[in-house]
Amino acid sequence: MATILAFHAHPDDESVSTGVTLAKYADEGHRVVVVTATDGSAGEIHNYENPEELFPKLAEMRKEELEKSLDALGVKEYEWLGYKDSGMMGTEENNDPDCFWRQDYFGPVGKLVTEIRKYKPDVLITYDPFGGYGHPDHIQTHRVGTAALAHRSQFKDDWWGFNIPVEFQKDFLGYENYILAFNRGSWSSETELV
Ligand SMILES: [Zn+2]
Repeated sequence: MATILAFHAHPDDESVSTGVTLAKYADEGHRVVVVTATDGSAGEIHNYENPEELFPKLAEMRKEELEKSLDALGVKEYEWLGYKDSGMMGTEENNDPDCFWRQDYFGPVGKLVTEIRKYKPDVLITYDPFGGYGHPDHIQTHRVGTAALAHRSQFKDDWWGFNIPVEFQKDFLGYENYILAFNRGSWSSETELV
C-alpha cells in the first residue's frame, strides 16, 4: 500500500481536481493525506443569496466544507499550512502580507517538508508551473510542492525523481495540470497507480 500526499492550494481543489482519484485510492486501502495551503477566504460565493454577509466567515465555512468533502472522499488525514487565500491574480488580496503568494519562500517550503517527513509519501500530487489557470496560490503551490520534494531528498537515502505520466493525467485525473512525483524516480509495484 502506498501513501499519497495531495498538496492543494484551496479548500475545494482536492475535490474539484483530484476527488475521484483520492476516493479511489482511499477506498483501496492506500493512505491518502491532503495538505491545504490556504483558508480559501478570497473565494467567490455563488450559491447563497447573501454573499456580503457570509464573506467575513468564508474561511470558517470553507473549513467545514473541506472536512465534509474529505469525509465523503474517505480521506482521514489532512493538514493546514494556515495561509490566507491570495485571491485571483491582479486583485487587492495579492498584496496582503499574510497571503500565500506573499510568503517568504522558505516558510511554506519548511512547513511542507515537515509534513513530507511526517507522512513519508510515496507519491506527491501538486500543480503545474502555471497553476492550471494562473491563480497565484496555484502557482505558489507548484513552487512550494516541487521545492519541498527536492529539499526532502536531502534527508533520505534514496532519491526522488519526477515523472509526468501524461496519459495517466488525461485518463485518470482528466486534467493535464498536475505533476506526479514518485520516489525512486520511476514507477514501481508499490507506487503503481494505473
Ligand atoms: Zn484553487
